[in-house]
Amino acid sequence: MAKSNNHWITSAQETSVYSPLDQKRTVDFAIIGGGFTGLSAALTGAQLGMQVAVIEAQSIGHGGSGRNVGLVNAGLWLPPDQIEETLGKQAGSKLIQRLSCAPDVVFSLIDAHGIDCDAHQNGTLHLAHSPAGLPDLENRQAQWSKRQAPVSILDAEETQKLTGTSAYYGALLDKRAGVIQPLDYVRGLARAARSAGAEIYENTPCVAARFGSGQWQITTPQGHICAKYVLFATNAYGQMAAADYTPKTSIVHYFQCVSDPLSDEQRAMILPQNHGCWDTGLIMSSFRLTRDHRIAFGAMGNPQGIGAPIHRAWFKRAVARIFPTVTWSDTDRMWAGKIAMTAEKIPQILYRDNSATVFGYSGRGIAPGTAAGQDIAEFFASHGRKLPYVPMTDRYRDNFTSVKSIYYEMGARAVHTVSK
Ligand SMILES: Cc1cc2nc3c(=O)[nH]c(=O)nc-3n(C[C@H](O)[C@H](O)[C@H](O)COP(=O)(O)OP(=O)(O)OC[C@H]3O[C@@H](n4cnc5c(N)ncnc54)[C@H](O)[C@@H]3O)c2cc1C
Repeated sequence: MAKSNNHWITSAQETSVYSPLDQKRTVDFAIIGGGFTGLSAALTGAQLGMQVAVIEAQSIGHGGSGRNVGLVNAGLWLPPDQIEETLGKQAGSKLIQRLSCAPDVVFSLIDAHGIDCDAHQNGTLHLAHSPAGLPDLENRQAQWSKRQAPVSILDAEETQKLTGTSAYYGALLDKRAGVIQPLDYVRGLARAARSAGAEIYENTPCVAARFGSGQWQITTPQGHICAKYVLFATNAYGQMAAADYTPKTSIVHYFQCVSDPLSDEQRAMILPQNHGCWDTGLIMSSFRLTRDHRIAFGAMGNPQGIGAPIHRAWFKRAVARIFPTVTWSDTDRMWAGKIAMTAEKIPQILYRDNSATVFGYSGRGIAPGTAAGQDIAEFFASHGRKLPYVPMTDRYRDNFTSVKSIYYEMGARAVHTVSK
């Protein structure tokens, strides 16, 4: 079998192999999509006593959950004041409170279920890529401090000590956050959900979904599920019938590549406390350590599309500038994923006919997806009494999503053409 480009696949410790569905099942709660959202919902649903079945079109973590950077951040990408302005004070502060604690939810699940995902809750660093990035970080720090969150500004010297590079002008340290190996985490969630009694089927796409007489009928190539409640958790990766139930969003491509293993001397200097990092650039980039002591460096852009040579050439210049002593002998082995962006950069939950569709984490789905899965399972188990952290709606529409997706990719190409 060809070696995968995705370092999370080649370095995974948690395994997951589930057979396809080949029979007729009747359950309380059917879940379409085996990522953070679907499997967190499966675990909570099974713990609350529901009969749960998850179907995944490919393998667990095939979507964003097995491809991402692994930054378990608090809140959303939007600063908290902006969330309250968008959703209103009450709904906004409910979301902020839930997602402020959401990294603790993730790290507690990892502890409780012994998930082997190289977890470090030492904080993340949002790095100022230029002097112009500092006011944004100071503004975020002021907004979070008003809400008693443990976030602080570091100067350039402190930032250099924690990252091992002098390329940044300062940072926002958020001690609530941390890093994980994301594929191991999602596979661990699947294992925990299975142990709690959930049924899990891989290589089982939902090819048709229909609601009638108070029941959902979910058809798969060799099987069928009848369920009272359904969660469509396919986000940016929806295919076949699931795509019909998930509204269109714009898409941002994001790629990553790992360095050669760091020497002992480099390990003492580079990310000595295992912080996960991303920057204030409009075309964002990120880096973090892997469990086999490599740097995983990533950025916005599609490394398989027509702009691939631009992104790949920029990548080589960027890592040489930021980590001049580190070598990258395998830059052909890049992996990438698709990020679903909503118009307001806030995740959405559609609710109709006893079904929920959750999508649009806009680049921050590890903690928000885990929390959304829990909330949806609690919502159904409580027969609608306990509401999720995002207000539910029965419709969502964003205009010109294809144009916006092209705009993001063209922006990434333009920046990667001119910047060092
Ligand atoms: C490159 C990248 C970097 C990112 N970095 C971060 C980060 O550092 N921190 C962070 O918090 N977030 C990050 N994100 C966002 C985060 O990964 C996603 O928001 C999150 O994984 C979404 O999880 P999900 O369970 O909703 O969907 P997904 O993980 O995408 O899962 C959807 C699943 O549905 C399956 N599916 C599709 N159609 C069907 C069907 N018809 N039947 C059955 N199954 C189907 C797919 O195969 C897929 O496995 C990143 C995303 C990407 C792509």
